[in-house]
Amino acid sequence: MNIVVVGAQWGDEGKGKVIDVLAKDADIIVRYQGGNNAGHTVVSDDEEFVFHLIPSGLLHPGKIGVIGNGVVVDPEALLEEVQRLSLAYARDPRRGIPRPGAEGQAQGLNVQQTLKLSDQAHLIFPYHKRLDVAEEKARSSSGSAVQGGGGRIGTTGRGIGPCYVDKVARCGIRVADLYDEAVFERKLRQNVDEKNRLLTAIYHESPVEFDPLRGQYRQFAKAIEPFVTNTTRFLHEAMVRKQRLLFEGAQGTLLDIDHGTYPYVTSSNATAGGACVGAGVPPTCIDRVIGVVKAYTTRVGEGPLPTEFAAELMQHIRARGNEFGATTGRPRRCGWFDAVIARHAVQVNGCDAMVVTKLDVLDEMPTIQLCTAYEINGRRLADFPSNIASLDRAKPIYESLPGWQSDTTQAEQFDDLPHAAQAYLHRIEELLGVKICLISIGSKREQAFRVGQW
Ligand code: GDP
Repeated sequence: MNIVVVGAQWGDEGKGKVIDVLAKDADIIVRYQGGNNAGHTVVSDDEEFVFHLIPSGLLHPGKIGVIGNGVVVDPEALLEEVQRLSLAYARDPRRGIPRPGAEGQAQGLNVQQTLKLSDQAHLIFPYHKRLDVAEEKARSSSGSAVQGGGGRIGTTGRGIGPCYVDKVARCGIRVADLYDEAVFERKLRQNVDEKNRLLTAIYHESPVEFDPLRGQYRQFAKAIEPFVTNTTRFLHEAMVRKQRLLFEGAQGTLLDIDHGTYPYVTSSNATAGGACVGAGVPPTCIDRVIGVVKAYTTRVGEGPLPTEFAAELMQHIRARGNEFGATTGRPRRCGWFDAVIARHAVQVNGCDAMVVTKLDVLDEMPTIQLCTAYEINGRRLADFPSNIASLDRAKPIYESLPGWQSDTTQAEQFDDLPHAAQAYLHRIEELLGVKICLISIGSKREQAFRVGQW
């Protein structure tokens, strides 16, 4: 069975943990979009791991991780992450695939067997990061992005957006280009010249230097070569062998470049369709799409969040839910569960089932509000508005449900949950028109249980 896991809100839904749980029943875990702007946290044996580029299922022994063609790759960040994961494997060899010929010793990550990087993935260069920061700085000094007057869009500054710009402008440099010296030099020279014109003339920044950059990327090319491969072919061969694929979406539906709250979005397709394009697999091979939602809503950075809490509640939930970005450390904005956006996510992804995470964070609430529709300009609207400016003005219409005010973190099955928590989850199912298949009630691997048959 091939499964796609997608965020059904604004990212940070806890996909890392869900992937870690589902990875047990998969052979290959595939990232298909985004870059190291993602941050998926997995807690295993009380040790916390944050995955940025490497698929988060790799803490299970014997799993293969694929970074597909749709991902943009900062080789420096990738190597740093490989190093960190290798150290984790060395601390606990049960985690990795042992290096052949050295049995019984603490082993590092055997990258060649464990990780595959698409030779068609686009590379991030330092000029992408420099432009990312310079562009956001320039936007900060103008008005609101919703009103078309510029304004910050809340990028992570990792060069992801500018790298995707180059991909679409057809001047990007792909992993395979690293291994053809003449092509690489020509493309890099063109890019450095063009980016330096932008950096100096438009943003009044210093230029990047060609020679050190070329030298640095030659080194990276050697270091990443063991895992560079044609991942599309690899995945097709794996499917012929009946291996099970688990596609790991990064960010979330409302951050999707097409279906999110544009322009406050990421620059890739975070939705389920992105899995096919970003891994080179046909839609017909996807058996299930699972959407992940928190029991409330969060978003990082700018942009509309209709159900946003007032200050006091914001502080409470932020602290209980540890709502600070895994990649940037930025505090997340928090609000009540918004069924309008989650329904939109169910539609565009075609979710077969939902995972609800962080139910425990609501344990102390006396009353819980559920947003079922919006009021925009005096009119009730139950569907996601395509005009972002109206979402900015949307007033949530809430349904109040009693809280459960008891600890859910020890629950092992649905029936262990307090009745009020069960009622809350059933109402979410009703509003989304999809069944819940997994509930998470804490950050640890074992604090999750499946619901029903799926
Ligand atoms: P992702 O980007 O969707 O993988 O989400 P993040 O990893 O950025 O955020 C999820 C955070 O919540 C991590 O710190 C997890 O350890 C934690 N987490 C995941 N599920 C739960 C849960 O059910 N309850 C609590 N309290 N924390 C959780």
